[in-house]
Amino acid sequence: MSLNIATVLREAAAAQPDRTCLVLGPRTVSYAEVDTESARLAAGVLSLGLERGDAVAVQLANSADFVFAYFGLMRAGLVMVPMNPLLREREVAHLLADSGARALLTGSPHLDEVAAAAGDLPVFVAGSGPVPEGCRSLTELYADEPFRDVVPTSSEDTAVLLYTSGTTGRPKGAELTHLQLVFNSINSGALFGFGPDDVSLAVVPFFHVYGLSLIGVAVRYVSTITVMERFDAAAAVEAMERDGVSIMFGVPTMYHALLQQDTSGRDLSRFRLAVSGGAAIPGEILREVEERYGVLLLEGYGLSESCATATFNRSFEDRRFLSIGKPIWGVEVVVVDGDGRRLPRGAEHVGELVVRGHNVMKGYRNNPEATAEALRDGWLHTGDLGYEDEDGYLFVVDRLKDLVIRGGYNVYPREIEEVLYAHPAISEAAVIGRPDDRLGEEVVAVVVLRPGAEATEADVIAFCKARLAAYKYPREVRLVPDLPKGSTGKILKKELR
Ligand code: AMP
Repeated sequence: MSLNIATVLREAAAAQPDRTCLVLGPRTVSYAEVDTESARLAAGVLSLGLERGDAVAVQLANSADFVFAYFGLMRAGLVMVPMNPLLREREVAHLLADSGARALLTGSPHLDEVAAAAGDLPVFVAGSGPVPEGCRSLTELYADEPFRDVVPTSSEDTAVLLYTSGTTGRPKGAELTHLQLVFNSINSGALFGFGPDDVSLAVVPFFHVYGLSLIGVAVRYVSTITVMERFDAAAAVEAMERDGVSIMFGVPTMYHALLQQDTSGRDLSRFRLAVSGGAAIPGEILREVEERYGVLLLEGYGLSESCATATFNRSFEDRRFLSIGKPIWGVEVVVVDGDGRRLPRGAEHVGELVVRGHNVMKGYRNNPEATAEALRDGWLHTGDLGYEDEDGYLFVVDRLKDLVIRGGYNVYPREIEEVLYAHPAISEAAVIGRPDDRLGEEVVAVVVLRPGAEATEADVIAFCKARLAAYKYPREVRLVPDLPKGSTGKILKKELR
């Protein structure tokens, strides 16, 4: 069967050519334009002599070019390798070599490094700045004569290679198929109650599975995407009002930042749903966002390897506080012990979450060892620790590798963080383990105080001590001005350690 995610765009453009697909500040782009621009780009890449299945790296920030490149490459039957624009020479070189990319589209701020990493590959540079020697401007890749067809691909063809560190090691390319992307767009639409009048706020990066999945669902429902190149809370609130945003897709640190904004006098009446994923959202933040913004906040869980969503809280009635919800349609998520045996329900049975279903990647490209490690008997091992409650709702308690083992006891940083977020003076918190000669590891809390609030390290320790078992509470608290965050806004615990 021929199936291609680009047909989703083609059908949307045929049905509603004049409808706005993208809003980028004052600029709007219609469905017809996205269709044409992606078809011009498809013609351009095909003229380079590339063929079905060849990989092309796309190192662009959230922009119209990203969306044109995505659907253009899909149309041409090629494989897209999205890359973070901030990657440096060594990282770019690794991704290009590992994916076997045949061309690179880039908007990197480190163009000289990227050009060096690309060697002889054709490099196309986005934006209006100078183009390094040997590279060409991305505008040259948009051919005059669009390629309006879609190269027939099988539903099993790899469509994107998403580089992720997975549970361990160097970045590996998770292979996702056209069928998975199409299915994700339909299924997400059902989960979020999507309709053509929805306006999605795109602040998560398109080069990440979360952003890519957002494009798919929004286009599937012929709806509008407000595109922001990077997250800025004040600008986000402004865009919400200006464009009548109805759904925001974010990560917890973004919701946290939204709470620092003054929204009085703003008309955010169309805002109906806040989707949170990528990391656990502290209960305090969830409650406050719902109250302050008058929205429903639903949390989901997934990985690059599970083509975005694996579990979701369905609705106000069908959700559990602090839970990641239940598996989506056609997907199983269960909890297993170290030997792969399924654990019974109940909060006391914490084990690794494993996922099986139509959404699980084919494997990591050119990496049979890592694939065998991640996919065992068809089950994707997530490296996340959690449990299932008596009613089948799933909970993530922590990352396997974030677990702190203090004096032989398991301490889940997430549990301590929930307590810290309940402290009135604390704005953000992360808990990590520090090597300790006597105990193996000691629990350390790194916290950011709310502007103008005061608390000493001893206050914070006492607050935790009063609420947590003796073996868990942090013995050390570090007050810092802010926490390091990754491209999606996740707190980088590796750096804190
Ligand atoms: P990525 O492949 O970058 O999407 O990262 C996937 C990882 O993000 C998962 O393995 C989890 O550790 C984490 N994650 C995603 N969603 C959630 C969530 N709702 N709660 C806790 N962790 C999450």
